[in-house]
Amino acid sequence: MIIESSTTRTELNPDQMEGEMSWENALRPSKFEDFPGQDEVKDKLRVFVQAAKSRKEPLDHVLLSGPPGLGKTTLARIIAHDLGADIKVTSAPALDKKGDLAAILTSLKPFSVLFIDEIHRLSRTVEEYLYTAMEDYYIDIVTGEGMGARSMKFQLAPFTLVGATTRAGLLNAPFRDRFGIVERLNFYKREALEQILNRSSQILGVGAQKVGLSEIARRSRGTPRVANRLLKRVRDYAQVKGQGTITSEISAYALDQLGVDQLGLDSMDRKILQLIEEKFNGGPVGIETIAAALSEERDTIEEVYEPYLIQEGLLVKTQRGRMISEMAKAHLQSR
Ligand code: ADP
Repeated sequence: MIIESSTTRTELNPDQMEGEMSWENALRPSKFEDFPGQDEVKDKLRVFVQAAKSRKEPLDHVLLSGPPGLGKTTLARIIAHDLGADIKVTSAPALDKKGDLAAILTSLKPFSVLFIDEIHRLSRTVEEYLYTAMEDYYIDIVTGEGMGARSMKFQLAPFTLVGATTRAGLLNAPFRDRFGIVERLNFYKREALEQILNRSSQILGVGAQKVGLSEIARRSRGTPRVANRLLKRVRDYAQVKGQGTITSEISAYALDQLGVDQLGLDSMDRKILQLIEEKFNGGPVGIETIAAALSEERDTIEEVYEPYLIQEGLLVKTQRGRMISEMAKAHLQSR
């Protein structure tokens, strides 16, 4: 029932996912000092953690939102580390029934952190079951069946819920309001990604020139998970096609070979833009139509691909559907 963090990219099979997770964990910073970027969020969290610690109270519940791979799971772990508390990591799809949630809640040690990934996917029943736990640290446990059924109040240890979501808008207001701290993570600037890549290359033991890492950072869709994944692939090219060091030439060559273009778009990003341009005359076209035409889940397009395309001004969301921008048209033509 308790799992490690998950990745939302659907092109990974289970074996790859396992591999992804183990090296992701190896590269995961455990302290705020080793977590570049997201300065405003980080500064606030540090204050709230310190204040809770000095009052010897549990930290208020935290809701972190933003596209996949930006560091929500990592921040949850850092918060727990800073609090000096235990953390249990699970995700909404694993909490199918109230009993699943009750089992975790009743096993929490005082002041520990419960991290629930993809929290917008909790069923309404499980979500509502969380309410008393979040507010007053108790849950109702029903014993027996039928006429003999009895409801018992079960007192829980004080804890902090950290919820992560790629879709904050899908959370019901009464649920969202129960989080005292609500923060949104944004795509990273190049400098922060360079720092992340620098640290990762040291952990991986690969020599890298600053310009080589800078090229990877530039093409990483503002996302640390993508940056780290590309770093590992570029390292392969450096070993086989170069002298083992990541230079700007090796990075550019490897990224081109990997189908990551100058704007950091991968083949799926381009497929989305191309489809709208070629089959729908630039749009507007509905998300369902795009998903069906590309045989991709609507959620994956909305959660994984669209946010970056929109932020880069390549895709525009209108009431009548998605349209591509002039910049996107020019980009497609330049390839
Ligand atoms: P999310 O939970 O938002 O999908 P994760 O926290 O699992 O993202 O992060 C994905 C990967 O990116 C992990 O390997 C993590 O170590 C790395 N990462 C994310 N943000 C940062 C950061 N600010 N500094 C260093 N590494 C980061």
